[in-house]
Amino acid sequence: MTTPTPTLVANSAEFARLFPADAALVTLAGGFQFLEGPVWYPAGGGLIFSDIPANRMWRWTPETGPQPFRDPSRHANGNTLDRQGRLLTCEHSGRRVVRQEADGTLTVLADRYQDRRLNSPNDITVDAQDRVWFSDPPYGIQPEEQEQPACFVFRLDPDGRLQAVADDFIKPNGICFSPDETTLYISDTANDRHHIRRFRVLSDGRLSGGDEFIAIRPGKSDGFRVDRQGRIWTSAGDGVWVLSPAGDVLGKILVPESPSNLCFGGPAGDWLFITARTSLYAIRLAAGLDC
Ligand code: MG
Repeated sequence: MTTPTPTLVANSAEFARLFPADAALVTLAGGFQFLEGPVWYPAGGGLIFSDIPANRMWRWTPETGPQPFRDPSRHANGNTLDRQGRLLTCEHSGRRVVRQEADGTLTVLADRYQDRRLNSPNDITVDAQDRVWFSDPPYGIQPEEQEQPACFVFRLDPDGRLQAVADDFIKPNGICFSPDETTLYISDTANDRHHIRRFRVLSDGRLSGGDEFIAIRPGKSDGFRVDRQGRIWTSAGDGVWVLSPAGDVLGKILVPESPSNLCFGGPAGDWLFITARTSLYAIRLAAGLDC
């Protein structure tokens, strides 16, 4: 038996199997203002992440460390890839969702709903039908700048149609599908909510249900990812919590700064990257885990 490092707090044998015996949390880069939006971007050769208040996006590779990627970024926040591996980005001050093309130019995918500007798109995911789902809380704008009557969750169809699929969030934030895409998890980071909700995805792209899946304290579930086995890896105040699809806390990765978000990736796909306030952290995952 190997004693887990103090970084890992296992509540289950399943959690302990997610990491190699010598797993340790490493700091890959520091000195940032507030990091968010990590995504492993094979076409760009590394990890993309956002420093929201610094108005800059970065690219990290094992060889180069962090290098400026997009500056200014219009206060970019969440990032993901579409089915073709293109980078999609939520912009706070741009108040839009953009796609980076092969030549580096940006295409605006969404910036208005019913003739009103979006609030400040926050986090984003793409399904197997290449539909883009994103949250639109008001964190990036002043109250008097809000044009939308609510903080919606949106679905953008490949034909360009934008639909509000949820209207009862206060601060919708992180958003991810279960592996079979029948369930959509969305967090609400309003001060009195702190939870992740769980929706059923109907065949026509509407959502039903929306019950509370788990409450996160301390902290909030700003961003999260679902692995191929359906486990939910979410940010929380004290680190990253790994949840079973039933909502059990399998264990925690304790992180010195409160994480905002995370992603799987790395050249061999066996790293978990964590953005947490001023620093980018990573921890190696067990070989063959296939997250
Ligand atoms: Mg967020």
